[in-house]
Amino acid sequence: MIIVENLRKRFGGKEVLKGISFTVKDGEIYGLLGPNGSGKSTTMRILSGIITDFEGKVIVGGVEVAKDPLQVKRIVGYVPETPALYESLTPAEFFSFVGGVRGIPKDILEERVRKLVEAFEIKKYMNQLIGTLSFGTKQKISLISSLLHDPKVLILDEAMNGLDPKSARIFRELLYEFKEEGKSIVFSTHVLALAELICDRVGIIYQGRIIAEGTVEELKEISKEERLEDVFLKLT
Ligand code: ADP
Ligand code: MG
Repeated sequence: MIIVENLRKRFGGKEVLKGISFTVKDGEIYGLLGPNGSGKSTTMRILSGIITDFEGKVIVGGVEVAKDPLQVKRIVGYVPETPALYESLTPAEFFSFVGGVRGIPKDILEERVRKLVEAFEIKKYMNQLIGTLSFGTKQKISLISSLLHDPKVLILDEAMNGLDPKSARIFRELLYEFKEEGKSIVFSTHVLALAELICDRVGIIYQGRIIAEGTVEELKEISKEERLEDVFLKLT
């Protein structure tokens, strides 16, 4: 479902991705775990069709990102690290706007919004301006908006940040549902415990390279002498 081969990206003179490779199967949650500045968000933007000038091969849902970023945007649900919302709209207005842009039929849109708004318990905020809401509520709005077109692939950049424990649990259960439906999910985080809890496989990214990859169990095996936490802490 997702193939990344020898991905390189420079910003000006600085190479921030230095040949990254990984694959994600249908129904798999792949974690990109690494400290701040290691290249997670850049990788996520490339997978979502937002950054299109890079070297290497990136295929998402059968589509070559560099060739057809618009099609990638149609099949991907992308949650950026910082919610990108219109602060002067209400959530209700924002969801209709997103539905319109993505061409989602009105009745389907309304049903999806209703379900997700209920699950995340933000009904009471639906008619307040987004700019006046808390970061956690904005994060929930961002999550909901990324799911409205029923994407095949989810690219979640530090998507649990700012969620209260109950919402985090609801979100986790949603992810397991998506997994059952066969969606591929890339989940970036700098929190080891989250990767451990959520991901089927994890790639540890450090200074633009994946330095280790496997299930959390396998990674623990590799670093037998040391606890994985300690190995990871050294990098952060
Ligand atoms: P992470 O999400 O793991 O914290 P990022 O992908 O955001 O890492 O950043 C990786 C490196 O690329 C950092 O050194 C960051 O400063 C740099 N970087 C990210 N975006 C840009 C940009 N638009 N222009 C220049 N440098 C950038
Ligand atoms: Mg980041």
